[in-house]
Amino acid sequence: FKTLRLILGDQLNAGHSWYTSKNDDTLYVIAELHQEANYVQHHIQKVCAFFAAMQAFSKALQTAGHNVKYLTLDDTKDYSQLPELLNSLIKDHQIELFEYQLPDEYRLRAQLSAYRNQLSIASNVFETEHFYLSDSEISHYFTVGKKHRLEAFYRKMRARFNVLMDGDKPLGGTWNFDSNNRNKLKQKDLPEIPEPLVFANDVADIFERLKRHNITTFGEYHERLLWPINKQQAKDLVAAFCETQLSKFGFFQDAMTCKADDLYTKKQWSLYHSRLSFALNSKIISPAYVVDTVVDYYYKHSSEVDIAQIEGFVRQIIGWREFVRGIYWVNMPQYARLNQLGAKRNLPKWFWDGETKMNCQKHAIKQSLDFAYAHHIQRLMVTGNFCLIAGIDPNQVDDWYLGVYVDAIEWVEMPNTRGMSQFADGGIVGSKAYASSGNYINKMSDYCSECQYDIKSVDGNNACPMNSMYWHFMSKYEEQFSNNPRNKMIYSSWHKKQPEERENILAKAQHYLSVLDDI
Ligand code: FAD
Ligand code: SF4
Repeated sequence: FKTLRLILGDQLNAGHSWYTSKNDDTLYVIAELHQEANYVQHHIQKVCAFFAAMQAFSKALQTAGHNVKYLTLDDTKDYSQLPELLNSLIKDHQIELFEYQLPDEYRLRAQLSAYRNQLSIASNVFETEHFYLSDSEISHYFTVGKKHRLEAFYRKMRARFNVLMDGDKPLGGTWNFDSNNRNKLKQKDLPEIPEPLVFANDVADIFERLKRHNITTFGEYHERLLWPINKQQAKDLVAAFCETQLSKFGFFQDAMTCKADDLYTKKQWSLYHSRLSFALNSKIISPAYVVDTVVDYYYKHSSEVDIAQIEGFVRQIIGWREFVRGIYWVNMPQYARLNQLGAKRNLPKWFWDGETKMNCQKHAIKQSLDFAYAHHIQRLMVTGNFCLIAGIDPNQVDDWYLGVYVDAIEWVEMPNTRGMSQFADGGIVGSKAYASSGNYINKMSDYCSECQYDIKSVDGNNACPMNSMYWHFMSKYEEQFSNNPRNKMIYSSWHKKQPEERENILAKAQHYLSVLDDI
């Protein structure tokens, strides 16, 4: 072979221009790397999903006639770092040209760029050809340190890529139907929640390999992996989403339920969400494929699917997903160190087993451990909100999110976690801190009715910890937050309380904050 082309675990894009022609001189390498399995502690399903998808991709490339070397953890055990492995492959195969696609994670991009700079053979770097915006375009839309807002970016993207447009106007007359999308699931809605399409990919061999190499993971292991690992499964998931979930996607997008026993037996844990994030982030499918397919379905079924549902879905992919990627790349590496609020408490122990009396946290965490999945509002307004108002160190929060979710890759995890949910970036991603008391959780879920704590109480014996901790947080950062007009009402209601009541609330919060591992 003359050329070695490296394919990373999240670069499984069969539509890449690399594969349009076959070349007997080119060797593709896909490797299970010890450095990737260990850079953070991952959920077992996350590692299984990536390795299984990499294997499937390798087979598909081979079937298409390409030369592929798939290296398992056994094969790479002597190379703790990627450059060592590459040196050995280049030497063994007398490679003259090294090529790779731009990694989407800063850590890997820096590693490969340093490696390339000291190589004595020629090398090339390619775009991944996955996102709507190419890598080189990011700087046209984003500026380092600037407080960007989704809405302006999203409108530009809709117009530029001509998605849900009516000439130069947004289809339906308005850009954003978010206000139609804030409904709670009532008891009568529960039986109608569709059963999600799950797969049964055999990952027993991968599990054995992980054990053999002492890779430490956490979370529930399922011998039959339910996540899609190849293009056909990913396409099936898109089709199933269109047929069973799209018509209520936006409507129940923020809703949560803990009717757990029923839900698990009926397998309704993901509600109306698509669960496409793993297939997207590993690049098995492209965002354009997902958006085009779902929009096409909408046009053909517009009597069943209203515009608010499809607009809400498109906004997540063409808007949020591309937006957080832009924020990540213009602001790295300093973004990873931001801690605007100086948060430094330790993550409570129950984040690793869900054993807390707070029903909302318990349910969101247990579901994350069971399925390596929680939907956006569980991540943002349950666990994320807790960490924010409890002042947990954003490094620890980032590590937990980066490990636990099957879709967690730093470029998308970090701006969502450190930025949107922890406000550690001081408002680069979001215009205000997403802090809330138990009221929000009570409004959007049935968690509180099954909780040992009393949602109605703020400073009583059995008061919901989210209530007092919320006020403690808002009061602590009053100087910073009170300038924001969106917080005006909140501070006025805080100051309307009698001084003694305020003191009691703050004392209650201090108590909970001192026993975080046991609440
Ligand atoms: P759906 O609700 O069906 O949405 C469709 C798609 O839109 C998703 O698959 C995803 O690709 C995209 N999307 C939706 N919201 C966002 C968002 N805020 N940012 C980027 N893309 C979005 N998403 C990840 O892919 N990886 C992460 O590591 C990740 N970490 C998060 C951490 C926190 C604290 C928060 C608040 C959100 C995080 N998200 C992350 C965003 C979002 O929660 C997930 O993309 C979504 O829950 C995945 O489930 P789904 O595929 O069923 O999404
Ligand atoms: Fe969560 Fe408080 Fe509701 Fe319990 S009462 S579920 S702790 S918000």
